[in-house]
Amino acid sequence: MSLHGAYDTNNIFAKILRGDIPSVKVWEDDHVLAFMDVFPQSEGHILIIAKQSQARNLLEIAPELLARVTAALQRTAKAVEKALKPEGLSILQFNGEAGGQTVFHLHFHIVPRWADREMKGHGHAPMADTATLQALADRIAAELD
Ligand code: 5GP
Repeated sequence: MSLHGAYDTNNIFAKILRGDIPSVKVWEDDHVLAFMDVFPQSEGHILIIAKQSQARNLLEIAPELLARVTAALQRTAKAVEKALKPEGLSILQFNGEAGGQTVFHLHFHIVPRWADREMKGHGHAPMADTATLQALADRIAAELD
């Protein structure tokens, strides 16, 4: 997938937004959804997406929706910091297949980091079980301002 082309309404995140496949939600409002990455690169890996946008990447999203997504990103990152006490936070965002993107609905990653824990490779992490992800989501959601 290049940076240009049509939005696939059957991409995984579109299916999650429609409720066609399950996800472990951290929080949502009318505009954004924060949910646990099912192949977490570290404990507490979260994805933030816009609900009402068919932007595939950063180049395509309307600036006002991007502002909502980045505000949600910061709000969620603050809750992650309070809940999990990471030593760092990697905020990742990939555009186009050549840029490392694998799901073509614009999203931001929050990957908590600890100096003594290795971050798993993007696209190479094992699947987490739902109960573990739900427990993390609950802890993080409890710290949202
Ligand atoms: P990208 O490579 O496009 O930046 O990131 C896509 C992310 O979606 C990856 O980190 C991958 O682990 C995650 N992912 C892929 N399939 C699913 C899924 O079915 N559910 C959830 N929650 N995350 C997924």
